[in-house]
This record gives sequence, structure tokens and C-alpha cells, in this order.
Amino acid sequence: MSDENRSDVHDVIIIGSGPSGYTAAVYAARAGLTPIVFAGAITAGGALMNTTEVENFPGFPDAVMGPDLMEKMREQAERFGADIRYEDVASVQLEGAVKTIVTDDDDVLQARTVILATGSAYKELGIPEEKQFSGRGVSWCATCDGFFFRDQDIIVVGGGDSAMEEALFLTRFGRTVTVVHRRDELRASKIMADRALADEKITFAWNSEVAAIHGDQKVTGVTLRDTVTGETREVGASAVFVAIGHLPRTELVAGQVRLNEEGYIDVEHPSTRTNLPGVFAAGDVVDHHYRQAITAAGTGCAAALDAERYLAALD
Ligand code: FAD
Repeated sequence: MSDENRSDVHDVIIIGSGPSGYTAAVYAARAGLTPIVFAGAITAGGALMNTTEVENFPGFPDAVMGPDLMEKMREQAERFGADIRYEDVASVQLEGAVKTIVTDDDDVLQARTVILATGSAYKELGIPEEKQFSGRGVSWCATCDGFFFRDQDIIVVGGGDSAMEEALFLTRFGRTVTVVHRRDELRASKIMADRALADEKITFAWNSEVAAIHGDQKVTGVTLRDTVTGETREVGASAVFVAIGHLPRTELVAGQVRLNEEGYIDVEHPSTRTNLPGVFAAGDVVDHHYRQAITAAGTGCAAALDAERYLAALD
């Protein structure tokens, strides 16, 4: 076990390198706190590494590629002295005045504050073409990508509130919106279901699942399979929005930090304070409502300021 840092108690350790983690790093570094950022071994840069153009992050009137945006955030954090490490955190001990972080490589570090910025994963359909067409017609975010599909045929997969919200939002852009749902009734709340059912642009493919996604460079259609009869049929579409849920990445902290009913980290809004003193949380691991790069960056900023103020009060 390498414990090069065991004798040092760092001011701030940030777990996660999406917009929230890197923004927290910029602020903490500029405050002279020399944060250590655990960026993840293979997932550094977070969710935007899996997309192409980001058109709604302020400051980029001609859009920016997701990976380029994250690279700029990383550079900015490093410029002010953030120490970015491409390792996964394997376990944490967050109670008490000094927190302990153990990495996958068995490095042990200690810190007076920890910022949790581990994001959330979109649930996937689990078919091979999903990754291939991610950013090329397959999307998990109508707010992010709906605009790209003006006057086109759009498929939304899911039957819950999120799926209805996405479908209703997408009617502003799409020529048609088809909701594909595995059952013959919606899981969504009555008010959301009624709204979607009443919308003339939305049609429903009941008892159906996406068996395959087709296209060349971009999505051109899907194969739907009937979940009752097993029969298949082809449907043309330029976009497939997957809205079957999210999984906040909380396995590291579950049992220590309080989670809400949906499994996201509970913070004392409007602050980023968790139930544990010195532990703050930001971005999509907290937010199941907005889930945007800019809101994640905003709460990352807030977490760094909260950590700075917490440390100042200790001194
Ligand atoms: P994430 O970006 O998910 O980052 C979490 C980080 O935590 C990752 O780096 C991961 O490696 C790290 N991590 C997790 N566990 C550990 C661990 N144990 N040890 C070390 N590191 C760990 N939003 C927009 O505003 N505009 C868009 O156009 C847009 N397009 C999108 C396209 C796609 C395909 C996707 C998936 C999302 C898109 N979003 C978009 C949403 C946006 O990406 C997220 O809201 C945002 O990235 C959330 O930031 P975050 O910092 O909370 O988490």
C-alpha cells in the first residue's frame, strides 16, 4: 500500500471530473486550497465525454464538442494548481474531522473536506447499436439534443414521468413523437400521462421494445419487438431518446452520507452540505431534476465555496 500522503491532511479532495468536479476544482484551486481531484481511471471528464456538440453551455456561440469542453475545464483547473489523478476511489471514510480516501491502487489520502461529484448514469437499453449511435441520433437528454431534430420523426423509450416529460418537450421540435413502452399502460403519474395521451403529436407503441437501431452515420430507424407476441416491425426515425431512468453513483458513500428517497445525495439546499460535516455534494449525483452541464458546474462552484467557508470556520 502506498501511503505517501498519509502524513498530510489535504484541505479538499474532489471525487469526480465532470463539470461539477472540475468547476469545484477551479474554485478551490483559485482559493489556494490545492485540491486533489480523483478523475476516475477510464471515465475522466464525465458524461460529456460521450457526446458530440454541446450547444447550450454559455460562452460557446458556435457550440463546443463535449470532450473539448471537458479538456478546457481540466486545463483551467490545473492552471490554478489542482492535482488531477486518473484513479478511481475505491472506498471512503467520511465521518469525523479527517476523512480518508482509498484509491483502486491502494493509495490512502486524508482530507478535511470532500466534495462528492460522481454524477449519475443513464440507464441504457442494452443493445449494441446504442453506444455506436450515441450523439448520432441516440440521446438521453431532450433538453440537450431535441433542437437537433427539428421536423423529424422522434422515438422516446420509456413509460414513466421522465419519458412523458421528454416526449412532451420534444413535440416542440419533432414532426412526430412515438413513445415506445414495454407495457400497455404508463407508469407515469396521471397528470403527466394524461398530458402525453392528449397530445396530437404523440403516438404510443404499446407492448413494444427497441430490438435494434439502424443507420449509417446517423440513426434512420429502429426495429420494434412486440413484448407479447414477439413480432417485429420497422419504424423510421432520426432520433431515439432513451428515458428509462438514471442511477446516481452513490455506491461509494451509501451508508455514510444520507440519500433521499430516489437514491440521490441529500443536501441542505441551497447549500451543498450533506449530513456529514465537511462533506459536500454537487452535480448530477444530487440533482435528479435539471441534469445539465451548466447546473452541475454551478453546484460544483457552490460546493467549493461551501468547503472554503467550512475550512475558514475551523481555522
Ligand atoms: P458527470 O459528468 O457524470 O461526471 C462524474 C464523474 O465522476 C466522472 O468523471 C466519473 O468518472 C467520476 N466518478 C464516479 N465515481 C468515481 C469514483 N469512484 N472515483 C473517481 N471518479 C469517479 N448537458 C448539457 O448541459 N448539454 C448537453 O448538450 C448535454 N449532452 C449530453 C449528452 C450525453 C450523451 C450525456 C450522457 C449527457 C449530456 N448532458 C448534457 C448532461 C451532462 O453531461 C451532465 O448533466 C453533467 O455531465 C453532469 O456533471 P457531473 O459533474 O455531475 O457528473
